[in-house]
Amino acid sequence: MSAAETSQRTVSTPEQPGQTLLAGLLWCAGCDQPLRVVRVVAASPAYECPSGCRQHQLDAASVDRLVRCEVEREAPALLAGVPAECQADIYRQLICRVVLGATVDDLVVTWRI
Ligand SMILES: [Zn+2]
Repeated sequence: MSAAETSQRTVSTPEQPGQTLLAGLLWCAGCDQPLRVVRVVAASPAYECPSGCRQHQLDAASVDRLVRCEVEREAPALLAGVPAECQADIYRQLICRVVLGATVDDLVVTWRI
């Protein structure tokens, strides 16, 4: 029984593991609303604010990568050897929320630990 087989059926673009890694953890600095993932065909996933307070969508891969750097700096042992599909659970255990400002690198992580 493989969970990977069932979860990959709905993914139309190859690779991009962890593209919704931070779903539910990201918040908008402008209006304090949770950000949502938008996926446009032929474009990479992005995060946007549901209230429309920001002009630009934020590239999801860039945000995920930057938050991953934060996690690796904070708790380097925790992600080592963990398969991508399991990392979302670790993020939820570690991170209370991530508040995103105007750009992808304008983020503040609130830790649970
Ligand atoms: Zn907003």
